[in-house]
Amino acid sequence: MSIFKLLYRVLRVLLVIGAIAGMVYKGIIREDFENYKMHAIPALMYHSINHTPDKWPAELCVAPEVFEEHLKYLKAHDFNVVTTQQAIILLKSGQNVARTVILTFDDGYEDNYSTAFPLLKKYDYRGNFYVVGKDVGMTFNKDGIIQYMSFPQLQEMHRQGMEIGSHTMSHDPLAMIKPNFLPWEIYQPLNLFHEKMGFWIAGIAFPNGSFNDAVIAEIKKHVKYEYAYSGVPGCNTLKIVKDRPFEMRRAGVYDRGRGAKDIEKALLKCYIFGYLEEKGIPAELLDRTLTFLQETFL
Ligand SMILES: [Zn+2]
Repeated sequence: MSIFKLLYRVLRVLLVIGAIAGMVYKGIIREDFENYKMHAIPALMYHSINHTPDKWPAELCVAPEVFEEHLKYLKAHDFNVVTTQQAIILLKSGQNVARTVILTFDDGYEDNYSTAFPLLKKYDYRGNFYVVGKDVGMTFNKDGIIQYMSFPQLQEMHRQGMEIGSHTMSHDPLAMIKPNFLPWEIYQPLNLFHEKMGFWIAGIAFPNGSFNDAVIAEIKKHVKYEYAYSGVPGCNTLKIVKDRPFEMRRAGVYDRGRGAKDIEKALLKCYIFGYLEEKGIPAELLDRTLTFLQETFL
């Protein structure tokens, strides 16, 4: 069979599945899906809130005006924007958490302080900032100037209701590094941030979402850690925070030039992945399958 015939067949199958899924979603399971959203909190991941510098991958940056469009979308749709620790308390209390969302920012770029932080305050929203221990306060000249937030800046954000967490010491993917380096990557930021800022952090976001059993075991040794973000898309529910607090769900929101549509799509992705996960379809498997299909056929 020629490659075109094969592609045609695969596309036809996907179209049929899509059409059925659409019909089912509109009719039978719509109510069930809406009920799911009442006990599920998506977490969205940003990096730099800036115009993309030359040589930077576009997915690392969301322009300030686009980010503000995202915040306006959340305001217009009555979203409650909380810290991760607040979200965990809400989930454990069993309240209706429909229209609750967590906004997270990785890597600790200085624009998180100078641009994202004032915008979040303007809308009365909370943000969560996961910073790399060795980079705090540093400026590097690599593919252009990269500047990272300083401890006094992080302290100020914390005082004003933002949550600060760890993104490890070195930013190396945790599943790839030698196990004897894990305590340094995981334990060290706890002490370092406490020493420099005077408060204990409670969360860690895994660089590239990478983790394994040894990583989870290391985190569990340190009682200050309440949660960790994996790279698995979906939503955070009571089940996730109770059974897998160190594998919380999170998905990236990227600037694809569609303004508020980009955050709307990212939220929908979280809800659909989370809903399917609750119905027994593992989010990791679904994510891998979709990535494979995308890479193979698009
Ligand atoms: Zn990162």
